[in-house]
Amino acid sequence: MRVTPVIDHLVALRRDLHAHPELRFEEVRTAGIVADQLAQWGYRPHRGLAKTGVVASLDTGRPGPSILLRADMDALPVTERAEHDHVSRHAGRMHACGHDGHTVMLLGAAAELAARPPARGRVHFVFQPAEEGGAGADVMIREGLFDLFPSQRCFGLHNWPGLAVGRFGVRAGPIMAGGWRFSATVSGRGAHAAQPHRAIDPVVAGAAFVQAAQHLVARRTDPLVPAVVSICMFHAGSTDNILPDRAEIAGTLRALAPGALEALKEGLREVAEGTERAFGVRIALLFHSPYPVTVNSPAETALAGAVMTGLDASTDEAPADLDLPPSLASEDFGFMLERRPGAYAMIGNGPSAPLHAPDYDFNDRIIPRGIAYWAALARHCLSEAQQKDTHE
Ligand SMILES: [Zn+2]
Ligand SMILES: [Zn+2]
Repeated sequence: MRVTPVIDHLVALRRDLHAHPELRFEEVRTAGIVADQLAQWGYRPHRGLAKTGVVASLDTGRPGPSILLRADMDALPVTERAEHDHVSRHAGRMHACGHDGHTVMLLGAAAELAARPPARGRVHFVFQPAEEGGAGADVMIREGLFDLFPSQRCFGLHNWPGLAVGRFGVRAGPIMAGGWRFSATVSGRGAHAAQPHRAIDPVVAGAAFVQAAQHLVARRTDPLVPAVVSICMFHAGSTDNILPDRAEIAGTLRALAPGALEALKEGLREVAEGTERAFGVRIALLFHSPYPVTVNSPAETALAGAVMTGLDASTDEAPADLDLPPSLASEDFGFMLERRPGAYAMIGNGPSAPLHAPDYDFNDRIIPRGIAYWAALARHCLSEAQQKDTHE
């Protein structure tokens, strides 16, 4: 099989996945399609890691290095606003992060490498559920990913709006932020709006909490370390003449260094305690869904960069940005990079709507380029002479 004829098929498949998005750990239809497709190309896909994960291995049968290539499969709880034919058929669910495209690019690589396998070693293709807030990578690891599929190196690829169509980007060191999500339930006492002295007002206290939290980045973390505190939800009250008894607040902390992230977490706890004392409310502050900083190892980043530069030489694409600015978005591929060296890279989606926006769409023009990257990367890693052991 050659890659070119399957591109049209993969574009159709990408649009089908886009029309039928599935949320974290519910990627049943998607995983079924992925596994069926892999089986058609001669793979024996392993199913069920992290509920809906699918892993297929290409074993050349000759000793050599083993690598892991990973795509994510889940969609987001967003209602799509788009005109195209493959618009989501489900209100409140949308492939707004392009994981539909990631899935088919890795499928294409599995097809390409099955058709023209490397000389030795093994490639594990990992189709991961629940990247969006479900830490699916961590769940797969805990359920034995690296035991079942021993790999010395791991690689990930994400489309990137704003980067020219098909242009690659990567950087050594932190490329995506670590994060914590949090909820804060502010409890007070409800009363008549005209008798505020009989209330313990959670709205005013909550507003103070939100304001004070904004000072953490300005005064608690090193200004040379990028960090973010975003309060994304504030719900309180039912009408305009009653002071409510509760406010629900939620948000996220992000930073490009673990120390800064912990400083934000500790600072937010103190802001909650201070707000309790100042306003007489109770604040139940809960942290959840920690994602580590996604840190690219220098050797594997150089290797990915060399592959990108090699691909650039045969096209007129803009040269890869090997010092891509990091992002304060978070990515659970960081869990894999905590276990194995590797590189998380970007491929330009062109001037599209941003990730997670209701009018975003994955750009099908980059599918062949993503496949070419995966295939070249696998060949490059498996042909490296200095790799001595097939097991880590
Ligand atoms: Zn996302
Ligand atoms: Zn994503």
